[in-house]
Amino acid sequence: MKTEKKHIKSISCEEALKRVFDYIDEHLRGKSRAELEHHLETCRHCFDRVEFEKLLKSRLSKLKVEAQSETLRKRLDALLEQF
Ligand SMILES: [Zn+2]
Repeated sequence: MKTEKKHIKSISCEEALKRVFDYIDEHLRGKSRAELEHHLETCRHCFDRVEFEKLLKSRLSKLKVEAQSETLRKRLDALLEQF
């Protein structure tokens, strides 16, 4: 009888880093994701990289939201001036 969990292939740091952005964006699925997660469990270097990119991404999206609301406010102000 075969076990449910298939053997996860070890990937290199280079291969892992190629998948990091897809992983953070939640685009990585199935085997590719399992392989990356396995790599992150065993490789501190890539784990730190993922943490760093996650932090960067959350900061950037925060900035984007702030920029968007700023634009929206300006638009509203411009709109109000017309009345
Ligand atoms: Zn690595």
